[in-house]
Amino acid sequence: MKDKLKEIEEAALLSATEVVTETELQQVRARYLGRKGEITAVMKGMGQLSPEERPLVGVLANEVKDRLEAAFSERQEALRQEIMQQNLANEKLDVTLPGRKQRRGYKHPITLVTEEIVTIFASLGFGVAEGPEIEKDFYNFEALNIPKDHPARDMQDTFYISEEVVLRTHTSPVQIRTMLEHAPPVRVIAPGTVYRRDSDITHSPMFHQVEGFLVDRKVTFGDLKGILTTFINEFFGESVDVRFRPSFFPFTEPSAEVDIQCVICGGSGCRVCGQSGWLEILGSGMIDPEVFKSVNYDPEVYSGFAFGMGIERIAMLKYGVNDLRLFFENDLRFLKQF
Ligand SMILES: [Zn+2]
Repeated sequence: MKDKLKEIEEAALLSATEVVTETELQQVRARYLGRKGEITAVMKGMGQLSPEERPLVGVLANEVKDRLEAAFSERQEALRQEIMQQNLANEKLDVTLPGRKQRRGYKHPITLVTEEIVTIFASLGFGVAEGPEIEKDFYNFEALNIPKDHPARDMQDTFYISEEVVLRTHTSPVQIRTMLEHAPPVRVIAPGTVYRRDSDITHSPMFHQVEGFLVDRKVTFGDLKGILTTFINEFFGESVDVRFRPSFFPFTEPSAEVDIQCVICGGSGCRVCGQSGWLEILGSGMIDPEVFKSVNYDPEVYSGFAFGMGIERIAMLKYGVNDLRLFFENDLRFLKQF
């Protein structure tokens, strides 16, 4: 009977090492230590033993049971560790996998051009000023020497909010506001949004302008030409030819429109420049003494020049965009290219 117990113990220990799951281990445990298990079966036969042998075999059987319990527990713990290690291995993060791409934003071409214009004029000593888009008639027209009967005041061009309040039609009112607040010398550029009742392939009811002006003692038309030529060469390149053409604006006298050599054909003539070889890019002139009077600058002491340009037009020429509406459609395929 001792041999039988020894045999059972060895077989049970071997089985325990062979199982790979906890369920299998429980089955092995039941087979040897359960109520209908093999050890129980052996102990049932103890009745046939002599009274002297009975307690000895009983002690031995209990010892075998204890050792098997301990071995099964140990094996169970080992199995749990193995499973945990397996799970950890399976769930391990692969940090070498490529990450999900974050979509980057792009600056709008109008923003890019505005920033570049501001940067160039800042390097020439100009500060930046802003003003309201809903503007009083006085700042938008009256103080800029635009009389009541001027065509620019026609209902077709201007969005009137009331008789005395408009959506500003240009950035020039910032010039008036700045000069009313600051005594000369002033040297300012004012980028911003402007509005006109106009909408087709080349016009949008909302668009962008940059206004610039410089007032000091003894400012001449030569200074105007110098500053604007420097800007154009910085922006469009040293090799681009510039010409100043006489023009008329109510708030400057004399006035000049500024053309650059066509950036598309290089001056030989094409559809964009109407075969002329030149492209108009901005309006400018010496600030009219009437404007100085409305901001209490003494025209006998001070002189200055002002200029303005449409940012969309500059952007179209710089990037070769042929339809103004592309700037406002916000099609990512277009915007991503800048
Ligand atoms: Zn051309």
